[in-house]
Amino acid sequence: MTQEDFGMRVSVLASSSSGNATYIETPEHKVLVDAGLSGKKLAALMASIGRDLNDVDSLFITHEHTDHVAGMGVLARRYKQLTVYANKGTFAHLPKSVGKIPYDQLALFDMGTTLSLGDLDVESFGVSHDAAEPQFYQFHHDDRAFTILTDTGYVSDRLAGTIRDSDAYVMEANHDVEMLREGPYPWGLKQRILSDYGHLSNADGADALMSVIGPRTKRVYLGHRSAHNNTKPLAHTTVAELLKREGLGVDHDFALLDTEREKAEGLFTV
Ligand SMILES: [Zn+2]
Ligand SMILES: [Zn+2]
Repeated sequence: MTQEDFGMRVSVLASSSSGNATYIETPEHKVLVDAGLSGKKLAALMASIGRDLNDVDSLFITHEHTDHVAGMGVLARRYKQLTVYANKGTFAHLPKSVGKIPYDQLALFDMGTTLSLGDLDVESFGVSHDAAEPQFYQFHHDDRAFTILTDTGYVSDRLAGTIRDSDAYVMEANHDVEMLREGPYPWGLKQRILSDYGHLSNADGADALMSVIGPRTKRVYLGHRSAHNNTKPLAHTTVAELLKREGLGVDHDFALLDTEREKAEGLFTV
């Protein structure tokens, strides 16, 4: 079997409030979305799925929060073959800790546009989040689509229409509203997370899934889980129950899967 037979393959390397990275490959490309962990951790996560950062050609950044960019400077300086894509607002607001990135490795990727890279098309879309110009991405290869949507306080009908009926999703299930309200965070931070510019709760994530899951959808990963205001079983059962109540075929029509803070999910073919 040649590599071409595998189509587009994906591994969620890490997903949580403390560090995010997803790996995507096609016959022609090996790319990452976000680098929110140290270079060392990212290298180890890649090794755990039998892949090497030396082979990654593109890094797509969603926004400037540390849990998405912590390792981006190190990666760009260490891996000269890497092109780092982000929009102007994100590049302009990177934390100082990212350090200098060689100018010739930077590429602008405007919100709401599609980038064609040979056998991989990447579509950016804006989200509602307290960052400069946050955008997430949908990846297209052949007739398959994979969408990542986390770090948003709200999913508009328009956005749901843009990303409807992907073959696979990473969807945010950040917090349980009760746990957040009763938990240790200061009032201002709680308000921020709960706002339309914060994060999707488990129930919000389920709502968003109801409006995007279609007949093609085979896999849904729940992502960007808070360590303080959520648990894996709570996120999973809350979303599963709400989707089942809507008559969606959880575990029949599509698999509902979890993600981990620092443990890669096995590669799957989209
Ligand atoms: Zn985040
Ligand atoms: Zn964020």
